[in-house]
Amino acid sequence: MLRALFLNGCVLVTLTFLLSLTYPFRNVPDRWQRPLRLMLFSVMGIVLMYFPAELLPGVHLDLRAVPVLLVTLEVGLLHGLGAAVIILSVRFLQGGTGVLPGVLALLTVTVTAGLARRYQAIQIRDLVTSRGLWALLLCLPYPLTLLLLPNGQSALLRLGGPLLLFNAAGLLVCASILIQRQQSLWILEQLTHQAERDALTGLANRRRFDLDLQRLGRQDALLLIDIDHFKRVNDTFGHAVGDEVLREVARCLESQGRARDTTYRYGGEEFAVILREIQPAHLRRVADRFRTAVGQCSMPPLNGQRITVSVGVAHAHVPFPIEDADRALYAAKKAGRNCVQLAPNEHRQLTRTPERSQ
Ligand code: GH3
Ligand code: MG
Ligand code: MG
Repeated sequence: MLRALFLNGCVLVTLTFLLSLTYPFRNVPDRWQRPLRLMLFSVMGIVLMYFPAELLPGVHLDLRAVPVLLVTLEVGLLHGLGAAVIILSVRFLQGGTGVLPGVLALLTVTVTAGLARRYQAIQIRDLVTSRGLWALLLCLPYPLTLLLLPNGQSALLRLGGPLLLFNAAGLLVCASILIQRQQSLWILEQLTHQAERDALTGLANRRRFDLDLQRLGRQDALLLIDIDHFKRVNDTFGHAVGDEVLREVARCLESQGRARDTTYRYGGEEFAVILREIQPAHLRRVADRFRTAVGQCSMPPLNGQRITVSVGVAHAHVPFPIEDADRALYAAKKAGRNCVQLAPNEHRQLTRTPERSQ
């Protein structure tokens, strides 16, 4: 019997690990998430019933309660009962004297878990953090149904403890696997987010910019934006005020983009914007909108000193948009700052088709 129990435990751990890989269901609409969980946990329970230990003739011992408890704690009592009914229908077909206690045992623990979730807000993570106490409590009603068997009292005395521990241990191990997986996903998400964000302004950073630049479409365009005489702000008002100005400029530039455009902090006081699918003829007008927006945005008090930006623009149909935009930015600085300069290619195109320019 120990061999059979061990095998059942191994099946449980394997299936839980496989199931943990499905977290989270990406590309699955919200309304399908819960039913899908219910189905996967039910399949797990059914597979477990095909590797049972035979406690007495017709009485099977396996860990089918574990997936039902997990789905109840994760999704709710209704889904837990749904999984229990699916699993029990299969058990019903297998037959034997253990069917009735089996039905009662599974329904009782499901309702217990449902109530614990509803009234004590118990979640899967609490199983792990309570040093197994909640796992034990939730499985407690399970062995009591042994009393329904012929010679129930002695069966309970002999097998109740091991049955309880077996289920509680299975529940604990599976909860740990699921929690581990969710924690690593969460940490990965946080780190990816942090790695691609600028800490001061919250904008996408240079790393993200370099990645996005590789996927620049031929319909897209690039703005390089540099704050004019920013060193003076730092020198006159200090770095803290300089930082505040950077945050405001970032907020202001970001508010000018459409949903698909992205604003980046490119470096110190330089920003970049990738404009998606924009006609070359509209570039100057759009770039000028970014420039004037900065001039109008609310800044910390600077004794009347205005914050302006220079903008270099290049459309992505040219071979080296970043170099072109950089050159255009340099030209904007030379032209006296607080202005927009198009890369030479854009200039030629616009002067050739003046009726389309803005
Ligand atoms: P220009 O109009 O030619 O661009 O002049 P500028 O003064 O803006 O350019 P310069 O390159 O001479 O100075 C940029 C300044 O930006 C110098 C640097 O200390 C400041 N800076 C860069 N990063 C930060 C930051 O994170 N916080 C603050 N407060 N200042 C920064
Ligand atoms: Mg600069
Ligand atoms: Mg500057």
